[in-house]
Amino acid sequence: MILSGARILEPGVGDPPPPAPVVVQAPDSRLPAPGISFDPPSSDLFAVDPIQQAASLQAVAALIAECRKCKLCERRTNTVPGEGLATARLVVIGEGPGKTEDETGRPFVGRAGELLTKILEAIKLPREQVFICNVVKCRPPENRLPQYDEIAACLPYLYRQIELVKPKVILAMGGTAAQSVLNTKQSLGSLRNQVHRFRGTPVIVTYHPAALLRNPNWKRPTWDDVRIAARLLDS
Ligand code: URA
Ligand code: SF4
Repeated sequence: MILSGARILEPGVGDPPPPAPVVVQAPDSRLPAPGISFDPPSSDLFAVDPIQQAASLQAVAALIAECRKCKLCERRTNTVPGEGLATARLVVIGEGPGKTEDETGRPFVGRAGELLTKILEAIKLPREQVFICNVVKCRPPENRLPQYDEIAACLPYLYRQIELVKPKVILAMGGTAAQSVLNTKQSLGSLRNQVHRFRGTPVIVTYHPAALLRNPNWKRPTWDDVRIAARLLDS
C-alpha cells in the first residue's frame, strides 16, 4: 500500500524484512554473582599529589624508592614496587614483600612466587605478560601482616599503578589484597566466588600462594578462582 505523501505504516511487498529482534545477552551463567564495587576517586589533571601525577610505572617506582611515609621504610633493604608488562591485561596483587623480595627488589620471587608462576602458566599467562605487585611495597619485619596505617600510607601507589596499567581483570591474592582493593573487612572466604569491581574493573579474590604452600587443600578452589579470572580475560 503506497500512498503518496502519506507515511507508510504497514509493511508492503518488497519492503526490507523487519529487523531481527535484539537478543539481550544473558549474563554468563558460568560467572559468579556480582559483589562489592569500590570506586575511589581517580587522579585528575589538576592533582597536586606527586603519586597521582606520576606519568609511568617507572615514575611510580621512583617515588616508592624514596618513600618514607610509613615505618616499614626503616628496615627495608629494597623497595619492591612491582614488575611486569605496563599494558598487562591482568594485575596480580599480593600482600607485601617477603625476605627474598626485600633482598632482590622484585615481587614474588621466593617459593610463593614460584607457585604463582605455575598458577599463571595454568591459564596460559606467562608471568612476563602480567603486572605483579603488592599492597605494601616494603617488607614487614618477620613477615608480619602489614598494619592498617601502613596499608593506608601505601595504597595510593597501588591505585596509581592500576590506573596506569588499566588491566581487564585484577586478581587479589589473600585477605590483605582483597580487603585493601575492595575497602572492606569481610573475610577472604566470604569474598571468594564473586565478581567484585575496583573502579569498574572486575576483581577476583583467591587464596595467597603462601597459604597454598601451607594448606594444599586450597589449591583446588584456587584453580577455580583463577579460571574465573581467565574467563573474564577472554570475555
Ligand atoms: N608474598 C607476597 O604477598 N608478595 C610477594 O611479593 C611475595 C610473597
Ligand atoms: Fe612508603 Fe609503602 Fe614503603 Fe610505607 S610500605 S615506606 S608507604 S613505600
